[in-house]
Amino acid sequence: MGGRTRKTANGVKTAKANLPSKPCAACGRPFAWRKKWARDWDNVRFCSDRCRAAGAGKP
Ligand SMILES: [Zn+2]
Repeated sequence: MGGRTRKTANGVKTAKANLPSKPCAACGRPFAWRKKWARDWDNVRFCSDRCRAAGAGKP
């Protein structure tokens, strides 16, 4: 008798590509949030240790 089945197909989460990013202070390239920066994201200014070494050398 009453056998209606509704589908809610759109239950997919897209968690990727939802990460913040900012430009590197040394090379100027945008870099994405990393888990290791989770605590310190506001203070992260360089995309890599190499850029940090290069950028931190400025007086
Ligand atoms: Zn960089």
